[in-house]
Amino acid sequence: MDLYFYNTLTKTKDKFKPINDKEVRIYSCGPTVYKDATIGNMRTNIFQDVLRRTLRYNGYKIKHAMNITDVGHLVSDGDEGEDKMLKSAREENKTPYEIAKYYTELFFNDLKALNIETPEIVCKATDHIQDMLKYVEELVEKGYAYETSTAIYFDISKLDKYPILSNLNLEEQKAGARVNVDPEKRNPYDFALWIKAPENHLMKWDSPWGKSYPGWHIECSAMGRKYLGEQFDIHTGGIDLVPTHHENEIAQSKGACGKIPANYWLHGEYLLINGGKMSKSLGNVYLIKDFIEKGYDPLAYRLFSYSCHYRNKLNFTWDGLLASAKSLERLKNGYQMHLAGKEEISEEIIVEYEERFHKAINDDLNMPLAMGVVWEVVRSEKKSPKLAKLLEKFDSVLGLKITEKTEVQEEIPKEILELVEERKEARKNKDWAKSDELRDIINKKGYNVKDTKDGIEITKK
Ligand code: AMP
Ligand code: ZN
Repeated sequence: MDLYFYNTLTKTKDKFKPINDKEVRIYSCGPTVYKDATIGNMRTNIFQDVLRRTLRYNGYKIKHAMNITDVGHLVSDGDEGEDKMLKSAREENKTPYEIAKYYTELFFNDLKALNIETPEIVCKATDHIQDMLKYVEELVEKGYAYETSTAIYFDISKLDKYPILSNLNLEEQKAGARVNVDPEKRNPYDFALWIKAPENHLMKWDSPWGKSYPGWHIECSAMGRKYLGEQFDIHTGGIDLVPTHHENEIAQSKGACGKIPANYWLHGEYLLINGGKMSKSLGNVYLIKDFIEKGYDPLAYRLFSYSCHYRNKLNFTWDGLLASAKSLERLKNGYQMHLAGKEEISEEIIVEYEERFHKAINDDLNMPLAMGVVWEVVRSEKKSPKLAKLLEKFDSVLGLKITEKTEVQEEIPKEILELVEERKEARKNKDWAKSDELRDIINKKGYNVKDTKDGIEITKK
């Protein structure tokens, strides 16, 4: 089946054609490990995981690289302010390496809690200083970079086209000139490849330009090329990376290799909180650990993220999370009901469900549409282990661990499930007396049975 992705590069939904049929190569911009990852960051990671799983569902093997930024990301994306790592180290009275180790560990804990697969390659910026340095030297040799008293800058005027990815209007931007633009820059949008370190700077390395450290964008160009080659299939990240980080990554690759590094550029939209931005001052920066502390299964958040397409803004509310937690229970319950079912389902029906689900995920990862099919299967009047198998297949993309029983489900004995099935049969035959009688027996055995729009709900009394 054809697979389509909205490509920020072409601004259209493009049919996916990998460079090499056997393996799809993906690069994702990973976290800057100076603070806790928020549920917003995790929305982007869930989208990237769904992408991986969808490619695998389509039979592709994957080679996915993700970087860990542990140096060079300044407080402002426009090469200004302090290095985020150093700021955090100073505030927390730790070394930048301790900060990086601590937040990297927390980041991977969150991925695990959300059942997000670890990319095949995880690469840390500070482990690749020499690769980055070599890349900058290549750019200087080829005439794309120049030295000032403070840094080595990329000269955007040397490119045939800049910007490529975003709709930045350089002339307009120049008119509304930003303050503090380095007067030694040839063009306001030239960006730092390598920065000369002040005397007391904590993270610095030897280079042809003295003790210095990398700019933010160079790590992704250097590590992407090292692990995936000069040109790979897909590049992903959050929408905020388009106008600066990804634009500059493309500039670097065009300078060094004469190529745009990836054919498809996929960007995830932002998560909002009560319609607005997440911010410390508003006290609404939520973490996955906050969900766990409040007793939520983090996978309820994963399901919550499927209520909206990844390219649309998603508004987080606690009510929404609660509703998703209930839905996750129903999904697992529905799966168990199918597993215990005994009815026959025709092959055509299974194929039809499967095709609709497949078409939805292949249409630029349309999870709200795919979930519509999942719920139809869950709510199917006919209960059959074949439908349970189909849900298992769907879950290879959903990643919701629907086969894992919840505490409540664990306690539902087979005997009760069989009585519920019998009651369902009675209701189908409009034998209300028998249905009531069976309900009483189930109640006496300590369980409640309720008919909901999502199917039958069994709960312990
Ligand atoms: P950072 O660690 O801040 O560099 O961000 C890591 C990734 O998370 C980037 O791809 C960001 O675009 C993404 N991100 C940050 N905040 C949000 C948000 N509120 N919603 C979705 N993605 C986000
Ligand atoms: Zn990057």
